[in-house]
Amino acid sequence: MVVPNQDPGGVPPAEGRSLPEWHTLSPEEVRRELGTGTAGLSAKDAEERLQRYGENVLREEARETRLQVFLRQFASILIVILIIAAVVSFFVGEPQDAAAILIIVVLNAILGFSQEWQAGEAIEALRQMLVQRAVVIRDGKQQEVDASGIVPGDLVVLEMGERVPADISIVEATSLEVDEAPLTGESSPVDKAPGPLPPGTSLAERSNMVFAGTTVVNGRGRGVVVSTGMKTEFGLIAGISQRVRAEATPLSRQMDILGRDIGLIAIGIAALAVAVGLLQQREFLEMFLIGVSLAVAVIPEGLPAVVTLTLAIGIKNMMRRNCLIRRLPASETLGAVSVICTDKTGTLTRNEMAVVRVRTPGSEVAVTGTGYAPEGEFLRDGSAVNPLEDPGLRQFLRAVLLCNHATLASDDENGWRIFGTPTEGALVVAAAKAGLSREGAPEAVREFSFNSTRKRMTIIFRENDGDVAYVKGAPEVLLSRSSRLFLDGSVVPITEDLRDTLRRELGEYASRGLRVLGAAYRPLPAGIEWLPASIGWTAETVEEDLIFLGFAGILDPPRPEAAEAIRLCRSAGIDVIMITGDNPLTASAIAQELGLSSEGAMTGADLEAMGDEELERRLRTTKVLSRVTAEHKLRVIDILSRERAVIAMTGDGVNDAPALKKASIGIAMGIKGTDVAKESSDMVLVDDNFASIVAGVEEGRREYDNIARFTRYLLSTNVGELVAIVGGLLMGLPLILIPVQILWINLITDGLTALALGLEPAEQDVMQRRPRAPDESILTRSAFLVILILGIWLGLLTIYVFSGLYEVDLDRARTMAFTGLIIFELYNVLNFRSFRFPLHQIGFFSNPTLLLAILGSLALQVLVVYVPVLQDFLGTASLTLADWGLLALLGLPVLLAGEAYKILRLRSGREGPDAGETQAPG
Ligand code: ATP
Repeated sequence: MVVPNQDPGGVPPAEGRSLPEWHTLSPEEVRRELGTGTAGLSAKDAEERLQRYGENVLREEARETRLQVFLRQFASILIVILIIAAVVSFFVGEPQDAAAILIIVVLNAILGFSQEWQAGEAIEALRQMLVQRAVVIRDGKQQEVDASGIVPGDLVVLEMGERVPADISIVEATSLEVDEAPLTGESSPVDKAPGPLPPGTSLAERSNMVFAGTTVVNGRGRGVVVSTGMKTEFGLIAGISQRVRAEATPLSRQMDILGRDIGLIAIGIAALAVAVGLLQQREFLEMFLIGVSLAVAVIPEGLPAVVTLTLAIGIKNMMRRNCLIRRLPASETLGAVSVICTDKTGTLTRNEMAVVRVRTPGSEVAVTGTGYAPEGEFLRDGSAVNPLEDPGLRQFLRAVLLCNHATLASDDENGWRIFGTPTEGALVVAAAKAGLSREGAPEAVREFSFNSTRKRMTIIFRENDGDVAYVKGAPEVLLSRSSRLFLDGSVVPITEDLRDTLRRELGEYASRGLRVLGAAYRPLPAGIEWLPASIGWTAETVEEDLIFLGFAGILDPPRPEAAEAIRLCRSAGIDVIMITGDNPLTASAIAQELGLSSEGAMTGADLEAMGDEELERRLRTTKVLSRVTAEHKLRVIDILSRERAVIAMTGDGVNDAPALKKASIGIAMGIKGTDVAKESSDMVLVDDNFASIVAGVEEGRREYDNIARFTRYLLSTNVGELVAIVGGLLMGLPLILIPVQILWINLITDGLTALALGLEPAEQDVMQRRPRAPDESILTRSAFLVILILGIWLGLLTIYVFSGLYEVDLDRARTMAFTGLIIFELYNVLNFRSFRFPLHQIGFFSNPTLLLAILGSLALQVLVVYVPVLQDFLGTASLTLADWGLLALLGLPVLLAGEAYKILRLRSGREGPDAGETQAPG
């Protein structure tokens, strides 16, 4: 329910009738009322209803209008000062000055507006990418659709971890529990089951309905959509916005503080200068202009817009690398990550699973075949056997098929596909290879869902001679809950010897990197009434005294690119810790294949036995944590954040939400992640791939470096202007640069080049240096020094150019100073491309946009110097070719000095601790 500005949906009452109270109807009545068959709606019907009822969306709070954004550009002290300056200029008989200042002010507003609007659009586009999906049954086929396309009457499948897409009347439920806190404030999950309720039942007690905006935290179910969009209970109570909020980031806060400080300095300097000037008994008007010039010179007007735009472009780049940023600060924090805690399954491995071996108490077979096609053989000692003739194998395969939600399907376009998790899919495929399917299976009456704490799940079926619980899960857990096993067609007590043998063998599977999943079953006493709430029989009492059936070894090979990404992390000073729910031996085997050391590996149980201090010590070296639950993850973050700053943590399940929120960056899986995990995350990993996290980190580092580059560059310009004006004043010269000229430099010519600096490619060793400290300032001491030195140099150079000419021709002298400063800055911008590497190392042409920006700035300056109208506005006079040549020559040493300094410093092997200067680790 996320697409804005559409008509609300909802079922309008049929002719002359009012809306039924849905909760008072039985499932059959709801179906009849809405015309929903057992095969769901037809595609055609759904299409028609969509036309009639509108999209399933909440109306969005109105976005700021263009006019509002434009007007906001005028709300700054600087602009107010400039407008006053323009008015004063007009009244003292300088209308051209006034007009020029106003034009620049408007130009600034247009520039600020277009950049801010674009950034807004980028965020909007992101929001569109976060559209919710939902599973419906139409034409008898299960399919995934955009939640916005859901219509009243749709038959919807609800699964654990999903956000409920509309208001739905339940027709079928197993252990369905829903978190309704967003709607009712009730904090514990509520049980849901079909069946009519009395009229007047309050919203919080309508246990046969689920509502849009709430989430399924357990079990599964099906239901018929009764209302959509603004007609849902959620829509009725609020015009709740789901937009990605533009939050302040640490960097933007730093920028705000910088802006404020500079603003104060500007006003201080301007006031001081005016006071001194008045004491010298200069004319008030002249002093006023000087004051304004100083204020304008000190403030980097172009900076905020360039920062905003660079961040927006950065988010787009990250998207291209499969990192979908949900909260703006994440794009910055990503560049400072020092520890990545990652899942194994699907993130480091491919999540394309296949059962390759099955061990039952009576025999062991290998399973052949590739992909999800149900074609393959069962081989015992190399020769094919019929699995259905082996009672143990047959019963095992039947159990893993029944206790399973995945389905297998094929079509011409996609070939064989599974719906559901790959682990369960692999088991369905193995059963299908033996010729087993769920067709004609008995009715499921109760489910105890899987979660990573339980590491097992149970579905109870009503079979001919009573209810039978089928359990699947981590084999060591099932073994310890089994008292008997199924051997050669009969049930026998388990001996300690056999238990040990099975444990050893499952250890062997795991040490080969196989994922091992066990199965067991248990016939239950007849006549149990399976209520939704846990009355009488609970998971604990059902899942004991089990009959063990065996286990399957599932191959899930590591992603080839993950090993390279882990290597890159090592060189970048980033620790990678694999945190998995899987078996310790499987985890260590996969870790080793990926080049992660399994030395000092720990399990969740080890973790629990340790005090905080010991854990803190162990976590410094441990790279593999296995059999870990969501609570363990939370504790690990806690301990890690004590000494190491920025932690990225991946997660996918409902239980992972607290850890995702607690980590500096919570990363949810885009493919296998639940809605709950995604909503708790700062970033969604579109392809679930570990390597994409590392790519995002690289992008984050580049972005930060670039912001540092242009901020420093723009500040050096301001210092140059300030030195020129104050120096001139002290030397008793006329005003060297008038306010419009300074504005022109700050906004137009420097703005262009600064923006292009933001596109600088990553430095060659960006992933060979340690992560920056998250609170590092962009203005480090050495950066400050460089800004001062270069700024003073450019300022003095400008005074020099001016002082030789002003007595002859003031306008020409100013034009020379003005053009000179721009040319000097164009040399200087090349200095700021890197703090460490000379141009020949980073490549003179490696940022073509910057070269274009330089040429563009020069072209603009030519216009300003020669076009009469512009001459009037900016107070310029024509220059000769020799003048240009002189300025070009004068500026060259600025660049040469920078280059020489970098070459010498690289030779001597000294590098400072700075963004873009941090040393390689180790
Ligand atoms: P990771 O944490 O790296 O994603 P994982 O998928 O193994 O790895 P969990 O989902 O926490 O982690 O699963 C823990 C264990 O529970 C698994 O190792 C497996 O033994 C068991 N398990 C996983 N999925 C199922 C399932 N659908 N049914 C029953 N047991 C399962």
